[in-house]
Amino acid sequence: MAYVWEPRWEPYIVEVDGIKIRTCRDKTTGMIACPICIHAASKCLDLSKEPHNYNYENSFFFSPVDLIIHIREYHFRGKNAKILREKLAETARKKR
Ligand SMILES: [Zn+2]
Repeated sequence: MAYVWEPRWEPYIVEVDGIKIRTCRDKTTGMIACPICIHAASKCLDLSKEPHNYNYENSFFFSPVDLIIHIREYHFRGKNAKILREKLAETARKKR
C-alpha cells in the first residue's frame, strides 16, 4: 500500500519582520509552500495559468520564518538570484 500526500491548497499570507508574501498553505497539515517552488500564482492564488515548462520543486515549511530563510538562502543566491532579478524586472516593466 502506498501513501501519497495530496495537498489541499488555500491562499495564505506570511508576515515576518515587515516582509509579506502571498503563498499557499495545505488545509490539512498547515504546511506552508514556497511560492516560487510550487508556482503559487497558479496553484492557489488564481493569478495565472499553470506554466508549461516550469521547474517545480517541493519545498514546504512548518513556520513562516523557515520559508523566509529558504527564499533568502536558496532563491536569492547564485544563478537563481540572477533569474529572479530578471523576472522581477520584467514584471515591473509590464506593470508600467
Ligand atoms: Zn523555493
